[in-house]
Amino acid sequence: MNEYDTNRIYDTVKDIGYFKTNDHLDADCYLLNTCHIRDKSKEKVYDEIGRVRKNYINKKKPIVIIAGCVAQAESGEMIKREPYIDIIIGPQSYHKINRIIENFKFKNKEELTEFDTEEKFNYLDKIKNNDSNVSSFLTIQEGCDKFCSFCVVPYTRGPEYSRPFKKIIEEAESLIKNGSKELTLLGQNVNAYLYKDGDKIYKLSDLILELDKIKELKRIRYTTSHPRDMSEDLIECYSYSKKLMPLIHLPIQSGSDKILKLMNRNHKVEKYLEIYKMLKKTNNDVEFSSDFIIGYPGEMDTDFNDTMELVKNIKFINSYSFIFSPRPGTPASRLKLIDKEIAKERLVNIQKVLEGHQIKKNQTLLDKSIEVLVENKLKNQNKYFGRNIFLNSVIFNGEKKYIGKIVDVKITKFNRNTLFGEIDERKNMRAA
Ligand code: SAM
Ligand code: SF4
Repeated sequence: MNEYDTNRIYDTVKDIGYFKTNDHLDADCYLLNTCHIRDKSKEKVYDEIGRVRKNYINKKKPIVIIAGCVAQAESGEMIKREPYIDIIIGPQSYHKINRIIENFKFKNKEELTEFDTEEKFNYLDKIKNNDSNVSSFLTIQEGCDKFCSFCVVPYTRGPEYSRPFKKIIEEAESLIKNGSKELTLLGQNVNAYLYKDGDKIYKLSDLILELDKIKELKRIRYTTSHPRDMSEDLIECYSYSKKLMPLIHLPIQSGSDKILKLMNRNHKVEKYLEIYKMLKKTNNDVEFSSDFIIGYPGEMDTDFNDTMELVKNIKFINSYSFIFSPRPGTPASRLKLIDKEIAKERLVNIQKVLEGHQIKKNQTLLDKSIEVLVENKLKNQNKYFGRNIFLNSVIFNGEKKYIGKIVDVKITKFNRNTLFGEIDERKNMRAA
């Protein structure tokens, strides 16, 4: 989402004469878009600002802006601690960025951290999204009302807000006109998307159905979804949409009902397994990826073993696992931490199993031709980059003419995160 936001900021500041520079030592304005989901982010910001200050010692000082969730959480404190920072802007105030930059020219340092989500999108809807990537992000929903005990998102991104259906379709059409062939619909709880227009209620499944009709669009993805909002109409999409990619990122966090309760996740493991079965029944090709928090306060060996059991049952093909990181202001930050070494050991153990599944899945693709959407040529290499239907990175010998096209690539080797191969000329010629 920060990548999407950053692109929208670029689109906005063009109006006051600012453009993206590839030479960061030559910037008039330096914007750091930050994430606050786990610890250390705040310190990383101060380290980075220290580096910027050093780089600009004999140059004109750029306007330094801290954007994103660290800005939202820390607000004016940051300018007090690091006077080199000029502007603090939270994620729901980006529509005011031009005014705030112009104001700063009169040396007014400012901090904007209100939750004006609706106003923000009303403003951004009027500015063309100039993203021209083959694969583009499109925010449809922001914020969260679920208040998991460990998470800062409800405090930094604010309450759940769903953008108007028509505005999303218009933005999608504009991105597709610019050359996008794949859209990833974004939201902190993307499947909680709900927009009322008179009597009509639009859900994520309606968006998928509408996008599915656009001929030039080849692939649809969405992230991140919550088990509680995995409705039947959304599951049904996997039976009819050929463009909806068969990888679902559905975080569970833990395989223990006790821990899920402590986390305030409001669902049990059984509910997750039910969703898994329903999705597999609807479309057996669907694969799962997930997020896990290891060493949550109160996690005993038995709870961790339950998580291991779940991981062995559902062979997630990609996952993100981290040790619990106490976030200031969240209920879980007041809880007693479990032993650090035990948490580390559990993380290593679960990652071993998760990586094993990933490698096994990649192994099944060896010597096979798989469909890859070609995104770009790699810098300084005569190789091309694309992704398969399960979002794996694929690097292969290609040609410029294939960018933006779905081609067959024969996989010749792999590591955990990347598949390597060559264009399967015979298959591609037949398709042509
Ligand atoms: N809304 C999605 C859901 O509830 O499944 C997840 C979005 S959250 C922004 C992304 C991931 O960050 C979570 O799934 C969780 O695993 C991880 N995360 C959030 N807070 C964390 C914390 N305090 N410590 C460790 N990981 C955390
Ligand atoms: Fe955070 Fe997701 Fe829980 Fe919302 S549902 S509080 S974004 S982990």
